[in-house]
Amino acid sequence: MNRSWMLSRNTALSNRLLVLLIFAGLTLGAADFSQAASPRARSGVAPRLVASTCGSNGAMLRQYRSQHFLLNTDLPDDQARVQLAKLESVVGFATDYWKRPCPGLIECYVADRVSSWPDAALPHPLARISMVHIGGATVTVANGSARKSAPRALFFARADEGIAEHESVHAYCLQAFGATGPTWYKEGMAEVGCYCGQSTHAVGVPPSYVDFFRANPRQTIREIVSQGKSTADISQSLREIVAEESSQQRGRQIPLSFWTEDDTRKVQQARELYRWNWSLCHFLCYNPNYASRFRRLGQSYVSNQQRSFEDEFAEVAWQVEFEYDFFLRHIGVGYRVDLTAWDWVTRPSKLPRNKRLQVRVVADRGFQATALALTAGEQYRYRCEGAWKVGLNEPLTDAAGGQNGRGRLVGVVQRGAELSEAFALGDSGVFTAPADGHLYARCEDDWTELADNAGSVILTLRRE
Ligand SMILES: [Zn+2]
Repeated sequence: MNRSWMLSRNTALSNRLLVLLIFAGLTLGAADFSQAASPRARSGVAPRLVASTCGSNGAMLRQYRSQHFLLNTDLPDDQARVQLAKLESVVGFATDYWKRPCPGLIECYVADRVSSWPDAALPHPLARISMVHIGGATVTVANGSARKSAPRALFFARADEGIAEHESVHAYCLQAFGATGPTWYKEGMAEVGCYCGQSTHAVGVPPSYVDFFRANPRQTIREIVSQGKSTADISQSLREIVAEESSQQRGRQIPLSFWTEDDTRKVQQARELYRWNWSLCHFLCYNPNYASRFRRLGQSYVSNQQRSFEDEFAEVAWQVEFEYDFFLRHIGVGYRVDLTAWDWVTRPSKLPRNKRLQVRVVADRGFQATALALTAGEQYRYRCEGAWKVGLNEPLTDAAGGQNGRGRLVGVVQRGAELSEAFALGDSGVFTAPADGHLYARCEDDWTELADNAGSVILTLRRE
């Protein structure tokens, strides 16, 4: 094969490339490769090799076509096909989420060894410097054939760490809607899309994310949505680099030496913000208390209507902060925000001395409302009937639980945004209410391992 197809299309592109937007593409840990064949993967058009050419240093550059992507890459054939399957999976997630099909093809450049790609094989003067120093970037390309239609999106990405998947969410939003929303939203959702492989919506980010959340002071939702423009700083750096470029260099790649230590610092700062962005978007996407509200807000973002977060969540402002904080306290790989969503519907009431209250507590959920309003210092007698287990291969136990406290009934008292420390209960006994408020109860287990629990107990409560 000759390389003329790339040279000629690249020359044509460089004349009409219009950088409307540049999104720095950063992802942190390694994406889970095992998710490539996720249930979301679209079979649509089978990936097929369109062209191949030999780059410098013997690099073989190939072009593949799948249902939504035109992929230019130096990855070996098998890895290129896996990459395409992952990209299609992400577009499947995006199409399901934003309810709009992806129009046309998204052109992308995924480089395993970008140093061996000739300038002429790269689609944009910033492609090499973006891939080396940032990870990737998405740009828009004026759609010459149809003036009124949305611009086409194009991205370039280093072939690691889920960068291409992250960029593909930006590209989808631009191509489908022409907009991506505020920075915290667009980067958070790009990360959600990158790690969307599990149909259960369990937290599936690399463990380094979890370490990060445990090591740093928790951010509030208010802080995250008002964080400003992390990637705008990086985009500004890129624009300044382009502005510095002399006219003689037009059409060639920007030298890597144009990148500064200050640029690197901005990228590192943005990486940290991306983690907060992901955590908030993941939480709001999958917690059933807020998912539809968040989707509505997101639809307004990508439609350029830009409703405010504060307006959309005004009715549940303290509840959503309460639950997001709870999520960050207990986050781990495998955590399910759907199984741990707080029950705000059940209203608690005081229990007359001659009455008793019965409530079912299931093993595979977080804290569950009992409808009992406790009075601090008062004593309550309780008893459980039934059995449960804290894993597929774990033994059935009563609410006293097994070793290490797993499987034991525990309680917590919630009053407004205040939550007491959890306190051990068990199969039967008497406890003293540690605070005024609504009693919630659950089966003690690792917060990341609730889904495989089974069984339930009937908890009977009465005042002493
Ligand atoms: Zn991004």
